[in-house]
Amino acid sequence: MNLVFLGPPGAGKGTQAKKLLEEFGMPQISTGDILRDAVRRGTDLGKKARPLMEAGKLVPDDLVVGIAMEHLRQIDPAQGFILDGFPRTIPQAVALDSALKKSGQKIDAAISLRVPEETLVERLSGRRSCPKDGSVYHVPQNPSKREGHCDQCGSILLQREDDKPEKVRERLAVYARQTAPLEAYYDKQGLLRVINGVGSPEDIYAQIKKILVRS
Ligand code: AMP
Repeated sequence: MNLVFLGPPGAGKGTQAKKLLEEFGMPQISTGDILRDAVRRGTDLGKKARPLMEAGKLVPDDLVVGIAMEHLRQIDPAQGFILDGFPRTIPQAVALDSALKKSGQKIDAAISLRVPEETLVERLSGRRSCPKDGSVYHVPQNPSKREGHCDQCGSILLQREDDKPEKVRERLAVYARQTAPLEAYYDKQGLLRVINGVGSPEDIYAQIKKILVRS
C-alpha cells in the first residue's frame, strides 16, 4: 500500500511510520529527515533549506518535490511506501499524483492524525533527538535511560531548533494555512481516513492497522 501521513508537527507521524516499517518493512520517506540530513552535510540543498527550517517555514515546493521523487524512484513498487511530512501543500500533492500516475501507481490512503494544539506544543517542546541515529525521546514521557544521552549510541540528545516554543507556534500556523487543505484534497478522492492521535502510540497504531485492512 502507498500511504500518506497527514497531521501537524508532533502528531506522531514519524512514530507510527516507524512501527509500520518494523512490522511490515514498509519504507518511509520523511522529507523532514532528508532535509535535516542535507543541512548536517552542508549540501546546496541544505544551505537553502536551513534558514527556512529554523524559522519553521516551508521549503519551496520545487526543491521538496525533487527530493521526494528522487527517493520514491528508489523504492520497489511492490513494497509500498509511507510518506511522512510530504506532501505539505496542494501543489506538492498534485505533483506527487501526476508522478505516480506516470509509473502506474497511486496513493491508497491518506491517514490524518488529529491532535489538539496544546498537546502538540507539549509534545514538541519535550522532544529530544539523537543527532547521530535519529532516535527520539520525550521528557518527561519517554525519557532516555541516562538523562540527556541516547540509549542506542550514547550521543548527547538535542532539542531541534524548530521545536523551541516560538518556532512551534509558527509551524502550527503554517500547517493550518498550507497543509490542512490537503485533507479536503484527499477526501474528494475518497482516500482520507481520520484518526484521533491522542493516546498511547500502541492504541493509535492499532487504529491505523484497522484502516489498512479496510482500505
Ligand atoms: P518535519 O520534520 O516533517 O516537521 O519537517 C521539518 C521542516 O522541514 C519543516 O518545518 C519544513 O521547513 C521542512 N519540510 C519538511 N517537509 C517539507 C515539505 N513537504 N514541504 C516543505 N517543507 C518541508
